[in-house]
Amino acid sequence: MKAVEASAAAEMKLVGGRLCLDFINTVDGRKSDSPRNESRSIVLGDKLTEYSDLVEWSRHAGIVTPTEAERLIQASKRNTREARDVLDRAIALREALYRICKAITTGRRPQTLDLDTVNDELLRARTHERLTHEANGFTWEWVSTEAALDRMLWSIAHSAAELLTTADLSRLRECSGEECGWLFEDTSRNRSRQWCDMQDCGNLAKVRRYRTRLRGGKKTKR
Ligand SMILES: [Zn+2]
Repeated sequence: MKAVEASAAAEMKLVGGRLCLDFINTVDGRKSDSPRNESRSIVLGDKLTEYSDLVEWSRHAGIVTPTEAERLIQASKRNTREARDVLDRAIALREALYRICKAITTGRRPQTLDLDTVNDELLRARTHERLTHEANGFTWEWVSTEAALDRMLWSIAHSAAELLTTADLSRLRECSGEECGWLFEDTSRNRSRQWCDMQDCGNLAKVRRYRTRLRGGKKTKR
């Protein structure tokens, strides 16, 4: 297993605006494998190749504490098969969510199978949800988290359900960068956000436009 600090998943930018979108973005580039079937995508740079990547990303995204992350990594070493299953479920959930979001951004109906995948994870998550009373009122909390290798999936499924049922889905965007495929919620006032990150895809596009202009040798306004 890789050293904890070595996971690229723990260094990625969190620019989606929501936990579930940042989770979908744990892939560096996506492209459609066929122009006729946009719902199937080829995953290019997957940041989640081991269970420890999933844990490190979860710590990075703030859904598990450093202590919990360490405990999960230790537990996964004792139960490698279950850890592998959780990673497989995580990837299945992520890809289902990506296809659902892609359907939304392109005005198509999401696939029933993909919704089933999200519902399966939600069902598992809900068995760990408890209503509790605190000084300031009532709140939801996760219970039986100690030994649960899949505990990060509960938060992700929860975030996805919240996005799909309460967010303004007309603000859901896919980055305009070539082969980027990152998703984000465009919360800009004039709904004009184009890039996952201006520093990355935005700059790259600027450079490309500049080079194209140089090659063309034409004077343009900008
Ligand atoms: Zn991008």
